[in-house]
Amino acid sequence: MNQHIPFETEIIRFLKRHHYTSVIPKAALIDMDGTLYDSMKNHTAAWHRLISELGIPCTRDEFYLYEGRTGVSTINLLFNRHFGHDVDPEEAKRLYKRKTEYFAELPRVEPMPGAREMTSILRDSGIKRVLVTGSGQSSVISRLDTDYPGIFEQDLRITSRNVTHGKPHPEPFIKAMQLAGVSPSQCIVVENAPLGVESGNRAGAFTIGVTTGPMAASVLEEAGAAVVFPSMPAFAEALPSLLLSLLTVSIQQS
Ligand code: MG
Repeated sequence: MNQHIPFETEIIRFLKRHHYTSVIPKAALIDMDGTLYDSMKNHTAAWHRLISELGIPCTRDEFYLYEGRTGVSTINLLFNRHFGHDVDPEEAKRLYKRKTEYFAELPRVEPMPGAREMTSILRDSGIKRVLVTGSGQSSVISRLDTDYPGIFEQDLRITSRNVTHGKPHPEPFIKAMQLAGVSPSQCIVVENAPLGVESGNRAGAFTIGVTTGPMAASVLEEAGAAVVFPSMPAFAEALPSLLLSLLTVSIQQS
């Protein structure tokens, strides 16, 4: 009788969906907010303050759904919903700057529990780490070298400055694959948000969803996650066996 391989069902389902024979992970494309940093509470509070001030009705929780979009894209979404048109591009930049100021006034964000372990396992497994964030928030990006020393090389980072289309468009992850010199079947994506999961899956990567906020696991599954973990520590604990299983499982494509 065959020995049980952890995550075999999820891996085979993913391989069939994308018409791959195997996934051999050489690079991990890793989101920042809500994945490496426990920052989403602050982002949603800053967004809610900004958008409410503009007289646009909104709820704080809805901003969890927009996570991964560029700031300007989120502003346009809300302007279109309320006023029926985009915001002037210069005004959008001013508003996003104000949002980053509101964010900076909030208590300092901390690294996500479990994320250091997760990135160390990837490094020790010889897997390249690429940062893929829709953020342009330098107050957080500039802390990566201190909080995650030796994990993210300077030339292996995609931020809002490097992309035309933010998540859920696949461009951020496709650019990250090009930076790392890998194909979609040589990647894993680590994401906490539905739009980020959608982006990673559309880019063709084995996309791992980790719920780190109020989002239900089913939302990440529906967005295209190959597998979902209930917390970052749970993902870090399972990561060695998941990597081993990815190297073990392959299928024939007709
Ligand atoms: Mg995120």
